[in-house]
Amino acid sequence: MTKKIEPGVLLTGGAGYIGSHTFVALVEAGYQPVILDDFSNSHPVVLQRLQQLTDRDVLCERGNVLDTSFVAGVLRRHRCVAAIHFAGFKAVGESVQRPLMYYSNNVGGLLSLLQAMETTDCRTVVFSSSATVYGDPATVPITEQFPCAPESPYAHTKLMCENILASLRTSDPSWRVGVLRYFNPVGAHPSGLIGEDPSGIPNNLMPYVTQVAVGKRSSLNVFGNDYPTPDGTGVRDYLHVTDLAAGHVAAVDALLANAQSFTVNLGTGEGTSVLGVVRAFERASGRTIPFEFGPRRAGDVAQYFADVSLADSLLGWRATCNIDDMCRDSWHWQQRNPDGYRNSSGISLNQQSGDLAQPKPNDPLLSPIGI
Ligand code: NAD
Ligand code: UDP
Repeated sequence: MTKKIEPGVLLTGGAGYIGSHTFVALVEAGYQPVILDDFSNSHPVVLQRLQQLTDRDVLCERGNVLDTSFVAGVLRRHRCVAAIHFAGFKAVGESVQRPLMYYSNNVGGLLSLLQAMETTDCRTVVFSSSATVYGDPATVPITEQFPCAPESPYAHTKLMCENILASLRTSDPSWRVGVLRYFNPVGAHPSGLIGEDPSGIPNNLMPYVTQVAVGKRSSLNVFGNDYPTPDGTGVRDYLHVTDLAAGHVAAVDALLANAQSFTVNLGTGEGTSVLGVVRAFERASGRTIPFEFGPRRAGDVAQYFADVSLADSLLGWRATCNIDDMCRDSWHWQQRNPDGYRNSSGISLNQQSGDLAQPKPNDPLLSPIGI
């Protein structure tokens, strides 16, 4: 029996939180994902975990997406039929402090990728956008037709990237573009092998709560309890990262099957308040999460959650996990990896690259992991 050829899909930023979960989902769906990452916000131990989870060689090339000829080489070497662009910086507060760094990496990174794709004749791309492009919505749920009103430099980079992709599509209809506007990705793979690994003090709620639960931080500061929401705390649409990963597979499938481009929200369609997350986490972990109310965080909106009907009708995708599943898997990940990927298994980078970087002789699709 001849082996079915697995279409190659480039994952820029594939060693990161969402990219690594998407790697697993793509393998399960019969694709051959190829990671391109500079490890500026990820740890190479994730590659070993991916190997464990998928029981296969993990194709990864270390490098910067801003290096267009390097990206073109990766696309060619692995005969990629599509790319998913995760690479970028994502901290809203940092983007206010260091806007040039954000515009350069996020907008420059996309331009570089698209140029590399054009020269290699690979014109199917999925882009990681964010619900933050909507700014403070007038009402909820948010549909894709809502006006975009980005408030931070980070949100502006996402909207600029969406606009670049729209111009490209107009100029050349052979481009197939899927823009995915994520709501709040949380959780981890149920195995506890991969998950979110923020460096320093977490900015986001779920990793902060998990660190309180594990005793790394003493209590959660709830940013505001005077919002016009049922319990006064901010409401968000939390989405399990494995559902989000499945959304990427659905997007690639749809783009390859029919040449229609799209922009869709990926969320559950349900809002959960900060106190709702705290209670769900207490149920999942059996621990009490101490918290205190503090002032609102600058730039926060009271509530947002997605209208997810377009993702359902266009991609046949809908979320399957609820907030209890998300908390259970975040807790499992945190317990198995109290320091994230750092200090895990005592693996040094050299040993690890030795484990994973064995290209099979005469196999043109395998290249060494450059870590
Ligand atoms: P992440 O930081 O975990 O992953 C991003 C990866 O990109 C990292 O591994 C980093 O090393 C890599 N990277 C950054 N710049 C690079 C460059 N120039 N060249 C090569 N690699 C580079 O982030 P994530 O949470 O997985 O997010 C992935 C994407 O999804 C980002 O574009 C982010 O803006 C977007 N997004 C994330 C969220 C969220 O809450 N996590 C929400 C909406 C959108
Ligand atoms: N939040 C909080 N304490 C924290 C971190 C976040 O109360 O330490 C609140 C925040 O005000 C918002 C919600 O939790 O209402 C989700 O915040 P996160 O930063 O995770 O997502 P975003 O605000 O970017 O949607």
